[in-house]
Amino acid sequence: MAADLDDVIDYAAGGSELPDLAQQTDCYVVIGNPIAHSKSPLIHRQFASQMGQSIYYGRLLVPSDRFAEAANWLFGLGVKGANVTVPFKLDAFAWAQQVQSIGNLAVLQRHMTVQAQLAGAVNTLKWDGCALTADNTDGVGLVNDITLNHQIAIHGKSVVLLGAGGAARGVLQPLLAQQPASITIVNRTLAKAQALCDEVVKLLPAQSLGLILQADSFDGDIPMPDIIINATSTGLSDELALPANWLTPASFGKPVLAYDMMYGKVTPFMQWAQTHGAQVADGLGMLVEQAAAAFGLWRQVKPDTQAVLQSLR
Ligand code: NDP
Repeated sequence: MAADLDDVIDYAAGGSELPDLAQQTDCYVVIGNPIAHSKSPLIHRQFASQMGQSIYYGRLLVPSDRFAEAANWLFGLGVKGANVTVPFKLDAFAWAQQVQSIGNLAVLQRHMTVQAQLAGAVNTLKWDGCALTADNTDGVGLVNDITLNHQIAIHGKSVVLLGAGGAARGVLQPLLAQQPASITIVNRTLAKAQALCDEVVKLLPAQSLGLILQADSFDGDIPMPDIIINATSTGLSDELALPANWLTPASFGKPVLAYDMMYGKVTPFMQWAQTHGAQVADGLGMLVEQAAAAFGLWRQVKPDTQAVLQSLR
């Protein structure tokens, strides 16, 4: 391959070799700012190698106010797909909703998945020169990690989702599709959790029937669920945010999976859950599984995520 997969392509500096590469091979990138830390090239390179497929997957650094022009440029070159990460997931959603033409080609078909609609955020884009697909694979990634890698069923379980930000929004629809007994969204700002519940009921009335979806704050008296998912960003700041009644010593009465979407460190949430005997998981499996879902959308094959997860750990 002409370019080193570890290179960061700088959009503001002209995009280096990407225009040439896009003519020679199937190209994909992860777009973000910052982007040098992203594990996505490593993951997708392994997927492609497993499948005997030849692709280029690079990191694209874009100035934080120039997503739309960079996306037009990128797909205009013939790049086939992109992952989108911080801070561009909302920009990608807006761009995919309104873009009319890419390069000199009209967008004739547009598919925004329900997951992306509910999240109001897009982490995966696919362009085939005619149809634009915008998806959010974070939720499928989370569900696959819990149910396949950790072998814990969500169906029939009580779930507490801590947080109502972008990550929580992205995972809600795939979680609901598993038909848990209940989902309680607990957020510091109660109004955001409530608004998210209201949006779900509007978008997914049929799926919401028969299960309890509710919002609460950290001050609420919240029963200990079967599965706790930490979708707050408290791991980044080494804080611990839990419902107040869980901080009493006797709160863990039954086996619980405590899942932190954060990866790369043991968070205060994970430490707390470990101390109380819960099964603990970090978000690395979710990262690999969301990448596998994106790869499947682009390449119509499902890679072996176990091998990649093991190599990353
Ligand atoms: P957002 O900034 O969109 O949301 C942050 C959430 O955390 C909000 O609900 C916010 O509450 C809450 N929060 C922040 N600080 C506190 C605090 N001190 N006490 C209580 N609640 C707090 O972030 P994202 O949703 O994008 O990301 C959340 C986490 O998920 C990050 O750690 C990120 O790394 C991880 N993630 C992992 C992925 C993976 O593949 N493993 C994919 C995507 C995200 P409020 O609404 O009140 O402000």
